Amino acid sequence: MKIAFYGAKPYDRVWFEPLSKEYGHELLFIDSLLTTDTIPLANSCQAVCVFVNDRVNKELIDILAKMNVKGILLRCAGFNNVDIQAANGKIKVLRVPSYSPEAIAEFAVALLLTINRKTHRAYSRTRDFNMTIQGLMGMDLHGKTAGVIGTGKIGRSMIKILQGFGMKILAYDLYPDYSLDIEYTNLDTLFSSSDVISLHCPLTEETHHLINKETISKMKQGVYLVNTSRGALIDSADLLDSLRTTKIFGGVALDVYEEEEGLFYEDNSDKVIHDDILARLTTFPHVLITSHQAFFTNEALEAIARVTLENATALENNKTLTNEVISQQ
Ligand code: NAD
Repeated sequence: MKIAFYGAKPYDRVWFEPLSKEYGHELLFIDSLLTTDTIPLANSCQAVCVFVNDRVNKELIDILAKMNVKGILLRCAGFNNVDIQAANGKIKVLRVPSYSPEAIAEFAVALLLTINRKTHRAYSRTRDFNMTIQGLMGMDLHGKTAGVIGTGKIGRSMIKILQGFGMKILAYDLYPDYSLDIEYTNLDTLFSSSDVISLHCPLTEETHHLINKETISKMKQGVYLVNTSRGALIDSADLLDSLRTTKIFGGVALDVYEEEEGLFYEDNSDKVIHDDILARLTTFPHVLITSHQAFFTNEALEAIARVTLENATALENNKTLTNEVISQQ
């Protein structure tokens, strides 16, 4: 199968290039995202391969279908960036439902430990030989309560690690798994009782801006908020407002941001940043922003490449599409 691989970065080639030969697929690496301008590049291809920030809307899907492109291969788990309903009956959408939940959970914990114990600030200080520790005080996680929203693959991996720290877990999920050794509760109780809140649910109409002015006001003083799921779970304007006007947060760590498209994964260091919210968020010492890198381990990238290419093979050979994303409507 010839596949147009959009948003290609050097690290994508590391696993995709050798494995594509093994699976007998030809990859056309394209640096840009999939847009109306770049879509003609997929002209002779049977599939396109996209990532988290390619917004595959109805317009693009209709063009792809006209071009006889058979599949949209998402090299990620989340599929909120593809109009699944518009794709229904026109083009198959396949994803990588699970590659390394541990990679994301471990990164979420790394963020939590950093904002709690302020190692990001200590690193800068000691490089400058400023050996003071004033302002770097954190809290013991042992004995504290972690609120985990979404107890799927990543949420469960996160819970295991936090339980290892001796934390009590409060969880919320639309579909609770009562076989887990945790207490499920409602969102209000989770917000008001948790010392740490970590988001692991998908972005849907229901979860859009789940963290907003109202829900933030229910949180405990000094709460640590970690988002490694999708940016739009948080209303960033409301978050910024709370950071500016209250002292509710002990720290906030964001690996994802609702307006990350076009900014994340790019070197913008020479550019003027027009996103005032993001620009302001980066100025708070207790806010840590990373560029959607929680998935970024060798093991995860190999698994992503293998499953994406297996999806392509299944599509090419009209086999059962176990990783197809199907419209619910
Ligand atoms: P999963 O499908 O295994 O688990 C998601 C859980 O969320 C499920 O248990 C589901 O029941 C629950 N859920 C669905 N709607 C909900 C709602 N309204 N309220 C509460 N819970 C709800 O998915 P996963 O593999 O654990 O991934 C979770 C999310 O992590 C993905 O959707 C994706 O957005 C994000 N992700 C981020 C990165 C990264 O690099 N930052 C990488 C992979 C995945």
